[in-house]
Amino acid sequence: MPIMDGRVTGHCNHDMKWTCTICGNRVLNVIIKNAKSVGSQYDIYYCDQCMVGKTTPVIPPADLAKLYSREVYRSETGKRFHGPIEKVIYIWRLHRKKRIEKHAGKGKILDIGCGRGLFLDIMRTHGWTVMGVEFGQEAVEDASNAYGIEVIEETRMRSTLLDEEFDVITMNHVLEHVYNPVETIHECSRTLKNGGLLVISVPNILSWQASFGNRDWFHLDPPYHLHHFSEQGLTKLLQNHSFSIQEVRRFDWEYNIFGWLQTLLNRAGIRKNLFYDSLKMKILRTKQFPGRTGWGLFWTVILLPFMAPLALMLSLAESYLLNKGGTIEIYATKSRDLPG
Ligand SMILES: [Zn+2]
Repeated sequence: MPIMDGRVTGHCNHDMKWTCTICGNRVLNVIIKNAKSVGSQYDIYYCDQCMVGKTTPVIPPADLAKLYSREVYRSETGKRFHGPIEKVIYIWRLHRKKRIEKHAGKGKILDIGCGRGLFLDIMRTHGWTVMGVEFGQEAVEDASNAYGIEVIEETRMRSTLLDEEFDVITMNHVLEHVYNPVETIHECSRTLKNGGLLVISVPNILSWQASFGNRDWFHLDPPYHLHHFSEQGLTKLLQNHSFSIQEVRRFDWEYNIFGWLQTLLNRAGIRKNLFYDSLKMKILRTKQFPGRTGWGLFWTVILLPFMAPLALMLSLAESYLLNKGGTIEIYATKSRDLPG
């Protein structure tokens, strides 16, 4: 799982529970309490200095590995959703390619947390040299098999990847899943060329949908999300590693509207994330949350025609009027002047 060089912060020592992973200071500020998931309860601690939250207790890597395994998190082919939704995902990946090509010319790209490699396959088709990183041997095998792309395990990054090897590094909703984000950003800085582009998207813990949803916020997702970034927190983390921010996107068709929609349904009292679950492939519909599904699906169908347009309006308002998008995507370049 997301461990750099076998070092894991946050779970070894009981005291680590209170410690900010970014700055090492003690954090006693709890912003979300009793978020339930997979039979456990989690609190979100928040460091005012770093503007980053942390899920506590921190789930041990071995337990987290089980939650990411085949037929729990994804199917053997790497697919997670029904056919039509997978087609929409393909179109969204094409748009991501276009956004990246606005900022960078063609070259060598590394996608950390590449999943089955769909995005890298698209990039390769359009002339990019591609490489992926995944967490755990099982995920690496599945990703390599899906499109025949070179995918390495995250623990091998430091020994395998050269200094200044890549023109672009992407992490799409991945940084919140790693145990040590500081080390991950440091690795990005090391392996990126000077002037290279880093693209990171994460949920925004200071968004309107996060405040409204609280423990029921769709993108909170404990214990998978070990950290909870804000725009300010991620910006600071990147600037501390000699990156300069080029662009911040605060609205995203793929993540923001659905984040609002599922959060509204959760707050309406329907079994948590039932709609999201119903979009997934059958074998992946796990029993993450208890509760009846029959009536839940009935009410989901009744409420969807009202809540879907509402979710769209709320997403647009939070992103463009309040600048507090439910998820954010930051484009940053590695400074040519300063050492990484
Ligand atoms: Zn901190």
